[in-house]
Amino acid sequence: MTLEHVPITLIGGCGPHGLALHLWMRDRGLDGAYALVDPAPTWLPTYGDGGLARFTEWLRSPRELDFSLGDPERAMTAWCDADGSRPLQGVYGLDDVTDPHANAALPPARRARRRAFLRYAQTLARDSGADQHVLRAAVRRLVPAGDGWRVELDDGRAFSTRVVLLATGLAPHLRVPEPWRPWWRQLPAGRAELALRADADPARLRSRRLAVLGSSNAAAWEVAAWAARAGAHVTLLCRRGAPIERQLPFDGEWFRGAYMRAFTALEGRERLRRLKRTHVPSSTLPGTPEAAREAGVEVVWGARVRYATELWGGVQVQWSDARGERADRFDLVWAATGGTPRPRELPFLADAVGAGRGPVVVGGPARGLPVTDGQGRWQRLPPIYPLGHLALPRAGLAAATLASAGTYLPLILPDVLADAGVDPGRRALRGAPQPLEAAA
Ligand SMILES: Cc1cc2nc3c(=O)[nH]c(=O)nc-3n(C[C@H](O)[C@H](O)[C@H](O)COP(=O)(O)OP(=O)(O)OC[C@H]3O[C@@H](n4cnc5c(N)ncnc54)[C@H](O)[C@@H]3O)c2cc1C
Repeated sequence: MTLEHVPITLIGGCGPHGLALHLWMRDRGLDGAYALVDPAPTWLPTYGDGGLARFTEWLRSPRELDFSLGDPERAMTAWCDADGSRPLQGVYGLDDVTDPHANAALPPARRARRRAFLRYAQTLARDSGADQHVLRAAVRRLVPAGDGWRVELDDGRAFSTRVVLLATGLAPHLRVPEPWRPWWRQLPAGRAELALRADADPARLRSRRLAVLGSSNAAAWEVAAWAARAGAHVTLLCRRGAPIERQLPFDGEWFRGAYMRAFTALEGRERLRRLKRTHVPSSTLPGTPEAAREAGVEVVWGARVRYATELWGGVQVQWSDARGERADRFDLVWAATGGTPRPRELPFLADAVGAGRGPVVVGGPARGLPVTDGQGRWQRLPPIYPLGHLALPRAGLAAATLASAGTYLPLILPDVLADAGVDPGRRALRGAPQPLEAAA
């Protein structure tokens, strides 16, 4: 691989997809064929203490959502931490949770602690030499060029590539709800932030009055409890009457390779119909309200936020709840309102996919996401494969989880190699890779 031309380029290369691609390619001796482009200084930044998931203590993932990729020695359950312990050994599996609400009753010992999972992934990255494939920069522009792409980085470097794998995650798509936008943008910078991206320095939060304007998703509850423990006086304006979560694994089938493969083989319209029809049960993680209360969070149930405005250097929030119209003043407000992935709005892609060149789904649960061809490439463009949440219309409901990296990505890699002109020989057909040479 030279920097003039790279066969396969993964954008978002330090996330789970980048690590999974590296392990899969390395297992097959295809070291020179790919670049992992990412400005992040560490692996899996979303799961680190500065990442979007930093308020999450326990992941919702079953043990199958790991980086084994066919090698049991690389499974999260087999991973040995630096102190000799195996903190992910007891994590529940898909077969343990046939009841879609079972996750709500699983004790901590059966769950993956975020920090342990991160150490597991970082150990795999280090021991497998993943860093040498990383181009430490952000993609500034992606330009269609013949039957491939020209990749321009924000440090001035540029190169051509045949295939792009798009795995930039949720961070570029965080949002406040449409009706809030007129007043939200008038609020003073530094007083009103998106919770998952907020400056959560405890010194900044201590003794401050913080309103978390939430949907009722578990992430909003985690944010509120975390900020309260950091010393803020937190009020959670919770839209519903209970914390809710689309539980993982809602229906284990969606996470299994065979099911995912069968789903990808369906005709596009049928896939969208199934996505629309499938009910994802919501339930509460055990102890969520208790943990928030113990941390000192004041919860206002059924709060509909109407308006917020600057007042005396802080923010006055107005809302309605069962007691009528109410208002209070806070030092800070955080919107814990999640994200809406809209790949057409990615700044580095906007030119390439504008004017109808990159078609997207127009309605339903996959609205705004790429329409792909039979192989999973975004239609009407040189080869570009959406991954993670962006692959929801093709991979199904598990696309928004780690299953996209460990299960969906390996399914599409034979086509990716073919598009990139990389001949894997017989190695690509190998079922299980060689065990990881952990100490190498
Ligand atoms: C609060 C929260 C909790 C979650 N909990 C779970 C869970 O318990 N289990 C689970 O399976 N999933 C969970 N998820 C979903 C999680 O997002 C996915 O599992 C996974 O991290 C998505 O992988 P990804 O590769 O798509 O994106 P990410 O892991 O977000 O990685 C995106 C990468 O893209 C890079 N990037 C962004 N822009 C550019 C650019 N212009 N150029 C180059 N690189 C760029 C970023 O630096 C980053 O490294 C959670 C998500 C959130 C927000």
